[in-house]
Amino acid sequence: TERRLIQSEKLSLAGEMAAGVTHEIRNPLTVISGFIQMMNEDPSNPYQSYTKVMQSELKRINLIISEFLVLSKPQAIVYKKVLIDDLIKETVFLFESELHLQNIQIDQHWEEQNIPINCDENQLKQVMLNVFKNAAEAMPEGGIIRLDVKKIIYHNASYLSVSISDSGKGIPPEILQRIGEPFFSTKENGTGLGMMISNKILQSHGGFIEISSELHIGTSIKIALPLETEESSHTIL
Ligand code: ADP
Ligand code: MG
Repeated sequence: TERRLIQSEKLSLAGEMAAGVTHEIRNPLTVISGFIQMMNEDPSNPYQSYTKVMQSELKRINLIISEFLVLSKPQAIVYKKVLIDDLIKETVFLFESELHLQNIQIDQHWEEQNIPINCDENQLKQVMLNVFKNAAEAMPEGGIIRLDVKKIIYHNASYLSVSISDSGKGIPPEILQRIGEPFFSTKENGTGLGMMISNKILQSHGGFIEISSELHIGTSIKIALPLETEESSHTIL
């Protein structure tokens, strides 16, 4: 089964709302967290069982907020030409030791090298991390993540395709339809924001995300980023 994520009205509304409120929510949260921590550390506090729950629920709110925060700093977005190889290698490096602990091997296949891409580095790193994290979470017993970097042509334009394929549990078709909806998650502790945010980032880069999956065999997430061709860097009148 295959699916290309599209940007719905709902999705951009969620993004705009996020932009407005995340920063404002963070400060009061920090204050509350601080006081709850103090209460937890007080041995004479008779409500420890409640304040412990409050603390873990606050942690969850913070997780959701930090996932949204990527969307909420439009002023901090800087597009520049970077070698995407370095960016990908850095992300893999960040993740590798953790993945080894989970019995996951990364198998890399590079058809292209030294590829300049006009992008916001932080945002693209965020996408890579989201996708790697999902791949790892789909393989609780370990497995292989295959990374494929190559050029593709889509509607006469060339893109760099970065595929991340896992050997995990796969996605049933009815679930595949819902991926990318804000807060849609099948995980007990999932936020359901990773794919929505990744899709949003890819769209703003003029690229797209495609998911294909086979149940019990694995899932492949293709991240496509527009390549600057000789022709596309000039305006033809
Ligand atoms: P979260 O990871 O917090 O659940 P995401 O937006 O990152 O939220 O992913 C949404 C859902 O998409 C996941 O809950 C999972 O069901 C599905 N999913 C995403 N990537 C994969 C994958 N590689 N393998 C299996 N399921 C996946
Ligand atoms: Mg995720």
